[in-house]
Amino acid sequence: MTTQPANAISGPNPSPTTTALIESGVVSSPESPGRIERDAVKAARAHLIANAANWGIDPNQFQPTISIDGIAGITVVRFGQTINDIEVANSLLAVTVNADGSLLSYTKSISDYFGNTQPELSAAEATSLLKLKLAQHQGISSHQVIVSDLDLVIVDSALVDDVPSGKYLAWRASTSEMNNAASISMTYLSQDGMQVLSSLPFVRGITADPFVCDLQVDMSTPGYALPTGVTADINRNRYVNVSLASQGLPLCGVNTSGLGVPSTDTAKQNIIRTWNYFDSVLGIDINEEQYLGNISQSVNGDLTPRISAFIDVCATDGTYGSCPYGNAFWVPWSSSDCRSGACSGIFLGRDYDHSDDVIAHELAHGVSFALAFNTAMPDSSETAALSEAISDIFGEAMDQLSVAPGEVADPAWKIAEDYQVNGIRNLRQPSVLKIDRAWRVGDSHDNSGPVNRLAFLLANGGTVGTANISALGSNANSVTNNDLCDVVSECQGTVRMSKLVFATVSNLTPTANYFEFGRAMNNACFTLVNARVPGFTATSCKSVQRALIAQGFTSSTIVIAKVPATTKQGRSLVMSSTMKAVNGTNVSGQKLALQMLYRGKWVTKQSKYTNAFGKASFSIRLNSKREYIFRVVTYSQSGLYSTKSNSVKTKVS
Ligand SMILES: [Zn+2]
Repeated sequence: MTTQPANAISGPNPSPTTTALIESGVVSSPESPGRIERDAVKAARAHLIANAANWGIDPNQFQPTISIDGIAGITVVRFGQTINDIEVANSLLAVTVNADGSLLSYTKSISDYFGNTQPELSAAEATSLLKLKLAQHQGISSHQVIVSDLDLVIVDSALVDDVPSGKYLAWRASTSEMNNAASISMTYLSQDGMQVLSSLPFVRGITADPFVCDLQVDMSTPGYALPTGVTADINRNRYVNVSLASQGLPLCGVNTSGLGVPSTDTAKQNIIRTWNYFDSVLGIDINEEQYLGNISQSVNGDLTPRISAFIDVCATDGTYGSCPYGNAFWVPWSSSDCRSGACSGIFLGRDYDHSDDVIAHELAHGVSFALAFNTAMPDSSETAALSEAISDIFGEAMDQLSVAPGEVADPAWKIAEDYQVNGIRNLRQPSVLKIDRAWRVGDSHDNSGPVNRLAFLLANGGTVGTANISALGSNANSVTNNDLCDVVSECQGTVRMSKLVFATVSNLTPTANYFEFGRAMNNACFTLVNARVPGFTATSCKSVQRALIAQGFTSSTIVIAKVPATTKQGRSLVMSSTMKAVNGTNVSGQKLALQMLYRGKWVTKQSKYTNAFGKASFSIRLNSKREYIFRVVTYSQSGLYSTKSNSVKTKVS
């Protein structure tokens, strides 16, 4: 018998020994153990002992683990292998006997490990090392790693998947990240605690393919019914009725027509690229149910989350239809089809399958909905403009960072340039450039402009007026001068901008406006600095502030209402102030200070936060017979704001 030292964990497996360790055989003429043994476990054990030499085993190494009764009195008795009382991971000797105890067949999958069975570490030491290693790997803290059921086992790479080849001692445990059920894994740690040998998740559905269906592909099956929410006109065009969203829209699933045609394969590749962007850059799995994955056994054919997409849709609002549909959308709807009670999917018009940034834009709507904007909003609202911008930003960042074969450079960050020449808008020079007095309520796809340009500037750098904005990191020409992020170290600016926008959105309310977005981005930047996220420094946050100011996110006015010219001594003077962003939106939740001019200096007397109407009211008792002068100012918020109101005065008599 060949053996390897217990700590040899690399190198090829030894050549097979004379006794095969993994084999199974069916007995040609069932033999009885001598007398009728009706207890299947005892019968199986008797066969195991009688055939030990023949099967090349040491019978003392095998203990029954489970007995499974099958049809016609057949029973499978499974034995596990231990060597010096240490379990051989995944070992099995299964003996099948019939009703009278005769041997029908056997299967063995065992190890001939022969070596050290004393570990160098205690179980407690192994547990803490395992936590440390997994935490380092996942970029989380070690108390967010849960380790349970830790055992010392014998690993034989012939029996265990995804471990270095050889035969050796190792620690095996069930591991997970706190609050992440999908992370539950079986993990092997080398017996000296130096190396995680393998960690494989139990939940495999998390890597399940999205389903993409072509809505117009014909189903010739007689009696085939259109999915919920789909109607057909006399020309057999199939329409998605968006006005029926509350009653259910179609999900593309395992039995839906139009799966697996070229357009759906292209769309699927672009969904997977988007999935990878969110995972590798932002650390989230958009296939989870809380984002875009639908868990619907009746539609998906399983209980794993799946993204649903339709390509080549016609769309109707219930009255007017558009076919072929020249647009794309994401929509959530209430439905008992999905486990959470809500399903969602993306719907793409003809030829949008290869428009990668549009696909990522629509998927990003599902993400920002889960993060913040989980409420209905008017299309002309600032929230809708933010929502469109965030989808454009993530959509375009994915397109820039994931360079597909044959990709053409897109330095202007155009959206939908793979659908039509010059796309439908771009982030470098949007139709609405910034937030200022000229800004008007309007379409969210135009009013996304100031946010889009902000993101472009943060990723690539640039100037706005006299403001110089540095990029958050390297750009598409930092290594290869071709405007493509085709080298790993390129485009750190886009990576960091993505992280900053994601951290910002994670802190927005469902009805946030531009001003709140700017304030949240400032906070998010300093939070990333404090969390020591690589690439974020106080200096980079200063540049983010310059960009926010230049783009109008912080511009505001504060007005104090007039006060009486005279006030009686000992009375309180009430002062009402209103704060508005430069475009006229009320600024709520902003900390303001009431200041009084005293011996030539402004002295802060009170602080108040503005309410939902942008108002803060101050009341101060005036005790001296003199003239009082007041004003209201913003707190600086790390240097971001410096708004001062008009001053008001009253004479106390
Ligand atoms: Zn959109």
